Amino acid sequence: MKKYALVTGGSRGIGRAVSVQLASQGYCVLINYKSNQREAQKTLDIIIENGGEGLLMPFDVADAKEINITLETWIEQNKEAYIEVLVNNAGIRKDNLLFWMTDEEWNDVLNTSLNGAFYITRLLVKYMMNKKFGRIINIVSISGVNGMAGQTNYSAAKAGIIGLTKALALESAKKKVTVNAVAPGFIETDMTKDLNQEELKKLVPAGRFGKAEEVAELVGFLASEKASYITGQVITISGGL
Ligand code: NDP
Repeated sequence: MKKYALVTGGSRGIGRAVSVQLASQGYCVLINYKSNQREAQKTLDIIIENGGEGLLMPFDVADAKEINITLETWIEQNKEAYIEVLVNNAGIRKDNLLFWMTDEEWNDVLNTSLNGAFYITRLLVKYMMNKKFGRIINIVSISGVNGMAGQTNYSAAKAGIIGLTKALALESAKKKVTVNAVAPGFIETDMTKDLNQEELKKLVPAGRFGKAEEVAELVGFLASEKASYITGQVITISGGL
């Protein structure tokens, strides 16, 4: 039977690398994105070029209604299939110091990064528990583990997902559904292209930014059968930062 994986924010950066990795592990990848269809198609093209399978699934992760309609329709039309791997990767940054932070900056980041993961996970985890196998991997950040000045919204969202990860792992372990978080440091993607890489890499013991493919390898391992006894964990991938 065909195995399915859903990667949110699969059109670019870490989500693209994760989509390509999971396709190489035999998954038909549902590539979610918000608006960038051209980039999402590029992810799909790479998967197909490598002999894998996937399809595009646009929706806004911050919109519970749109998620329910899109995913429930897909599930209804694909009764035999079930999504056994979910990677909650979609995320945005809107940095500001707390005393200047607007409601919009706060809410946009929380709605996308934290609420989005809640809406999708709530919908899919029940199928995974029914089938007695599932993998949920949440892409968080060292900003959510340690806190980062200028990112109270982002740190709060990522710390919130870490809490969700640990609590849901306890709810789902007996049903063989593992729930883990991956916390990257600085990774070279569109999200970090406005940062001063030359300066910031001096802070990283490994002396460089990471690559999306390096994060994808870790996600691929957590998604595999080999990682069955790892759950409720936050695994940092940051070159020692
Ligand atoms: P990018 O900015 O490169 O890509 C973001 C992706 O998220 C895009 O695919 C985008 O879709 C999608 N997305 C954004 N908002 C929504 C939404 N509302 N609904 C659906 N999809 C959405 O980000 P990265 O690859 O760098 O980051 C991926 C994850 O990794 C994020 O959660 C980020 O917080 C985390 N992370 C990144 C780090 C880094 O250094 N890069 C460090 C630590 C964590 P579209 O193309 O349509 O806009």
